[in-house]
Amino acid sequence: MMGRGSFSAMARMAPLLNAQCYRRDAFYWGTDIMTVRAGREFLAIPGPTTMPDEVLAAMHRPAIGIYAGPLVAITESILTDVGRLFRSARRPYIYIANGHGAWEAALTNVLSKGDKVLVLESGRFATGWGAMATGLGCEVEVLPGQWDRAVRPEEVTARLAADHERRIKAVLVVQVDTASGVVNDIPAIGAAIRAARHDALFMVDAVASLGCMPFEMDGWGVDVAMAASQKGLMTPPGLSFVAASARARKLHENAGLRTPYWDWTAREGEEHYRKYAGTPPEHLLFGLRKALDMIAEEGTEAIFERHRLLAGAVQRAVAVWAEGGAIGFSIAAPAERSNTVTAIRLDGEGRAAALVDYCRNRCGVVLGHALGDLAGRGFRIAHMGHVNAPMVLGTLGVVETGLAALGIPHGRGGTGAAIEWLAAEVKP
Ligand SMILES: *Cc1c(COP(=O)(O)O)cnc(C)c1O
Repeated sequence: MMGRGSFSAMARMAPLLNAQCYRRDAFYWGTDIMTVRAGREFLAIPGPTTMPDEVLAAMHRPAIGIYAGPLVAITESILTDVGRLFRSARRPYIYIANGHGAWEAALTNVLSKGDKVLVLESGRFATGWGAMATGLGCEVEVLPGQWDRAVRPEEVTARLAADHERRIKAVLVVQVDTASGVVNDIPAIGAAIRAARHDALFMVDAVASLGCMPFEMDGWGVDVAMAASQKGLMTPPGLSFVAASARARKLHENAGLRTPYWDWTAREGEEHYRKYAGTPPEHLLFGLRKALDMIAEEGTEAIFERHRLLAGAVQRAVAVWAEGGAIGFSIAAPAERSNTVTAIRLDGEGRAAALVDYCRNRCGVVLGHALGDLAGRGFRIAHMGHVNAPMVLGTLGVVETGLAALGIPHGRGGTGAAIEWLAAEVKP
């Protein structure tokens, strides 16, 4: 963080500049005396997420050779460990790309122009993936959903059963929709596809859940899954992963949308350079290797439980704030709320923006803006990846400070309810 009164700190605080203070000597008086934001800014947005110092430190090193030696071993170990996170027996593919790149990689490796794709709507991200399929020349049908609930598996069965000519080649869904904060029941949707006796590929976006919540590629019958580095995996944006079932790998052989850069076949084999279709992103790999070591050390079961506990704390707080009438969950049913991000509705013109600004500029906590249907009418608190009790309780405390300072009606004691939840759940 910048020291008080440093030039860039002043520039950042420009909207808050108190002209009077500024005209005096900013070095002694500060650019704005009404803040409690010195120190490390805390990022509570759903990606990129907070990176552990160990991950940052692991990247601070010189580049090394790319054709032999330790980097080859790092790639091998990363592919093995990411495959384990997906719970896939097969080796995943790695891309120098954000999640959108992995979306394109997933689609182009198994589909052909004109193929029909069914998108299961539950917020913004599955439909975003579907828009990409449209752009690639697929015929996309959206199974309409609502922003306040998860995909209904029985509706999936009904739609697929009505596809008598078996034109639908793939079903696209997200596990967690980062905009609405919903968690879809991926095993139930897989079962719904099988119940329709339909052979569409089951394709799942696990960007906002992998490494934070259970995912069972093989056990749930998922054919293609994708994820990215900058959410639960605690690494900078710029790496993404696609896992494929044996069936998807077989269909890949005849996929008409394949392009040289994203192509799975080109990335298989033993030559290290080919796995990245060019120079490996060494430093991102050093960071990811460290993050995967930290995940292995904590253990995925412990990590999933930590996310459940911290999500519970956030949900307890929001439920109390909701008693004031202006605040509510974007997702109606508690069981359908994600353990990684909570989307919160906040009624009243300009209130959400004022709250987000207050938390960032006055208190140093960066909340997520609301997206899509909720844009301008809410905010999001991420609790995924490298998060612990002080980070979450601190964030809740700051939100509650903002609600009070801005005079937004809310039930009192939300942070206290979060504390009580943790005290009851986290045994001595
Ligand atoms: C963040 C996110 C994406 C997009 O990832 P980018 O890295 O921003 O391209 C896709 N799907 C979900 C569910 C996400 O949360």
